[in-house]
Amino acid sequence: MKMSVIGTGYLGATHAGAMAELGHEVLGVDVDENKVALLASGQVPFFEPGLPELLSKHVTSGALRFTTSVQEATAFADLHFVCVGTPQRSGSNAADLTYVNDAFRSLLQHVRPGAVVVGKSTVPVGTAGALAVDVRAAGAQLVWNPEFLREGFAVEDTLRPDRLVMGAEDDAALTTLQQAYAPILAAGTPLVITDFATAELVKVAANSFLATKISFINAMAEICETTGADVTQLATAIGHDDRIGPKFLRAGLGFGGGCLPKDIRAFMARAEELGVDQAVSFLKNIDDINLRRRARTVDLALEMCAGSFAGRRVAVLGAAFKPDSDDIRDSPALDVADAIQRGGAAVHVYDPQAMGNAKNVHPTLAYSSSALEACDGADAVLHLTEWREFRELRPADLAAVVRQRNILDGRSILDAATWRDAGWQFRALGRP
Ligand code: NAD
Repeated sequence: MKMSVIGTGYLGATHAGAMAELGHEVLGVDVDENKVALLASGQVPFFEPGLPELLSKHVTSGALRFTTSVQEATAFADLHFVCVGTPQRSGSNAADLTYVNDAFRSLLQHVRPGAVVVGKSTVPVGTAGALAVDVRAAGAQLVWNPEFLREGFAVEDTLRPDRLVMGAEDDAALTTLQQAYAPILAAGTPLVITDFATAELVKVAANSFLATKISFINAMAEICETTGADVTQLATAIGHDDRIGPKFLRAGLGFGGGCLPKDIRAFMARAEELGVDQAVSFLKNIDDINLRRRARTVDLALEMCAGSFAGRRVAVLGAAFKPDSDDIRDSPALDVADAIQRGGAAVHVYDPQAMGNAKNVHPTLAYSSSALEACDGADAVLHLTEWREFRELRPADLAAVVRQRNILDGRSILDAATWRDAGWQFRALGRP
């Protein structure tokens, strides 16, 4: 089938590559000329494992092309996926729908009658119903098909999702979308067909649940910190109950990124507009718990620096909001790094992939070209993003370069005994 993908960021570029992999002819459209030029040459403007190989394979074969022209897309295809961003609106918790509205407006100016438009962006409930009026007026049909991919596993998640959700009012449009996903559906992927509002809510409900699970164990970490209990053992023990399960129960610095924080805030803002804010008022606590972990990390770093950051050097290992990504949107690591720098310390950051993005957005932090260099002369080492290479750091190697053997594990992944045996003062969130 021929199709276009409008908005080729983390979601859209991956979706475009995956659709080409399924055997389709795909035209990616973005307003960012530099991004389009890079993608058109088979390169990926961000770090996502497996995506460069996938894109260059299909750009080379000609199955995948990129353009800045929506008109080219409407002339090329009658199936269009809208994957543009929905960031948090500045000065508000609500989602900024400017990009979605702009993308639909320009698409609908040129779309051919009978076309199917598929919304994949995460939007407040009610958005699809309103957009569907304009889509129908243009002679096309809308399907809402939320995306659940995880950065770091985006290619795998797109080609082998754990479910597909389609919200629609028109059977023919649904059939078209199912044809596009035919190989995925043939592999037995569960399909939930529903209305627009449910499809939109599935996405924010899923993210709210995941955020709640993370903040739940982090709330337990707060209790552990005042009682001397160990949250990692607590998590292991409750995770054995298969009604609870062990996943997403690792206490630490909490969640960040371009999805979870803004999605739960946008959900609260939308619920307030609808007069049902009480139903999701707990999400405010979830957000607060999450942000308190960042403050607690700064406090622990301060303790390690004997109560003052002045004249201290702090190494921050990690800048991306999670490993296997270069995404620094609402990154807990960089938030902590900024706060410590404001406190007066010299903060040296290293991340295996996110240095470019971090330098652009946080230019006043110091950056090092390796973990060891960041730790050179450090009074405290903070492990804030759980990259594999940080897990493999050896206490003796770091001990040879730091000024003080202080390490804070913000991700509950390092082995406390190994570090303590090597003479380090080892601290972690929620652990004695
Ligand atoms: P992103 O910022 O990486 O990409 C958005 C892209 O849209 C950018 O390249 C931008 O230039 C482009 N764009 C903006 N306006 C446009 C227009 N009018 N026409 C064409 N292109 C336009 O964002 P993202 O992370 O890919 O997220 C996109 C959407 O997907 C969001 O709603 C997000 O919540 C949702 N989502 C993201 C993920 C994820 O892990 N990143 C997962 C699931 C859902």
